[in-house]
Amino acid sequence: AAAGTTGTAEPPKKFPKGVVLGKDGKPCRSCTSFAAWASQTKSSLKATPSTTTTLSQSPPRDCPPDVETLGRSTWTLLHSIAATYPPAPTPSEQSDLRSFMRLFSRLYPCWVCAEDFQAYMRKRDVRAGSRDEFGNWLCEAHNEVNRKLGKPTFDCAKWEERWRTGWRD
Ligand code: FAD
Repeated sequence: AAAGTTGTAEPPKKFPKGVVLGKDGKPCRSCTSFAAWASQTKSSLKATPSTTTTLSQSPPRDCPPDVETLGRSTWTLLHSIAATYPPAPTPSEQSDLRSFMRLFSRLYPCWVCAEDFQAYMRKRDVRAGSRDEFGNWLCEAHNEVNRKLGKPTFDCAKWEERWRTGWRD
């Protein structure tokens, strides 16, 4: 299920649309967009010392991340790992990457995102044979999430320019 839905159970009526519940039955901040989160709590709209924005679509920089801030930061980390992964990794480096991705997919704080990502990894094994292989695997995995969320897909021929070398002039 995409964050923005409730997974298997519908939320009780008191939670506005878009607020995703955690497995404890309470609203899950890292599964919910800031806009949806703000609509269910007046306090999240109050200005903090670091911001005077009251109706922003993103959380203030010193607040816990919403699903989008967490996602952007995480993709930055994952694609940067791909960018620095060796072109010809040793068996031990390949094993480290597979272990990291398996644990990452179990620990990701947005549980609905994590469950879908685990399902994707069961269908498409992590390809860790080289930087090129992993970079393209990750780009395809990111595109799968983009499609689920109705976002444009990214041209995977350009993943290295976006995340490693910078754009060609
Ligand atoms: P992001 O998707 O965060 O992308 C950041 C940048 O990466 C883009 O600006 C672009 O330059 C580049 N990029 C985009 N696509 C690709 C690609 N295919 N390959 C390489 N570079 C690319 N959110 C939900 O609401 N529901 C979910 O179920 C969900 N699942 C997620 C699963 C994972 C593993 C992760 C890491 C995030 C997930 N997210 C989910 C968050 C979501 O993917 C976005 O991060 C969030 O919506 C913010 O999107 P954005 O438009 O800022 O760009």
